[in-house]
Amino acid sequence: MKGKVAYIPQARQIEFYEYDLPEVEPGAILAQVVRTNVCGSEVHMWRGEFGRRGVMPGHEMVGRVYKLGKGVTTDTAGQPLKEGDRIAPVYYRTCGLCVNCREGNAAACVTMGVRARRLIPQDPPHFHTTFATHYYIHPGQHVYKVPDNVPDRVASSANCALSQVFFGLDRANVRYDETVLIQGAGGLGLHAMAVAKARGARVIAIDGVELRLQRAKAFGADELIDMRAYPTMEARIGRVRELTGGLGPDVVVEVAGVPEAFLEAVNLVRNGGRVVEMGNISMGLTVALPPSLVTFKSVTVIGVATYNPHYLQKALRFLAQHIDVYPYHELVDAEFPLERAAEAMDKSDRKEVTRAALLP
Ligand SMILES: [Zn+2]
Ligand SMILES: [Zn+2]
Repeated sequence: MKGKVAYIPQARQIEFYEYDLPEVEPGAILAQVVRTNVCGSEVHMWRGEFGRRGVMPGHEMVGRVYKLGKGVTTDTAGQPLKEGDRIAPVYYRTCGLCVNCREGNAAACVTMGVRARRLIPQDPPHFHTTFATHYYIHPGQHVYKVPDNVPDRVASSANCALSQVFFGLDRANVRYDETVLIQGAGGLGLHAMAVAKARGARVIAIDGVELRLQRAKAFGADELIDMRAYPTMEARIGRVRELTGGLGPDVVVEVAGVPEAFLEAVNLVRNGGRVVEMGNISMGLTVALPPSLVTFKSVTVIGVATYNPHYLQKALRFLAQHIDVYPYHELVDAEFPLERAAEAMDKSDRKEVTRAALLP
């Protein structure tokens, strides 16, 4: 039996490769991809912002166990696992040995980025990423069973957006009664609002698109700042000061993904506050930032690109508990067959869809 996996050789081009399904080594799992989403990172890849080398797209997925390697009887949390079970894998591996893994910040594992940059479909076991019919889960890679009440369309973003913002808000130590400002009401932003709300925080959301503002409200935002009404940074700073008794929010979460948003975050946050930077992932995009602003405001900047792998289980539990509280089922608003991934990424790039799912 054969499977298919995608590759982006350069901006706005996609190729599909076909391979025999690989042997599953002891401790590994071969998953059948049920759904995989076009995340912001795939849009950046599609635009060619990840550099000149080709990349393998796809990391958000929900799947079914296709084959268990020898010795695998449970998921990472010890729940029994059999063929056909619905699962969500962490889309990367951490080494457990480097300085960051040893100190409990596996999200910053020094081996992770190196491995991801080298992936090409030709190298076995071929199914390295999730714009594919199958996905190879290596021994030691975290994988969790999906709770029964969490449908596929909701579970498919748990292993990226939700786990990452959950981890990011923990890193920032968001506490009851704090004010959290979230820049950008896309996938990461909406998940961040729900988690911040569950922590008892007051949530302010900034966006400039009507539908996204409506969703922010539905995902727990207490206050909305519409960029069309407040078109400049100065105007938004003024509005945020009004909403926060002149101080500024305790925490700002940057998930808008443009460099100017980071500059604005440092300006918006209160003196002594925390800025969680997650949205900017394109190398080479810059903004002029006076470092003295960070100094004099005593701002703590926390960079978060992934998450400690066990956060995926927390994310799945959060979904199981809040599935009826927030309109998670609306987050994926377009579906395409895998073969039409190019169209899905184009439409995502033009923001004609919020979150597109590919169905292999
Ligand atoms: Zn993602
Ligand atoms: Zn490590």
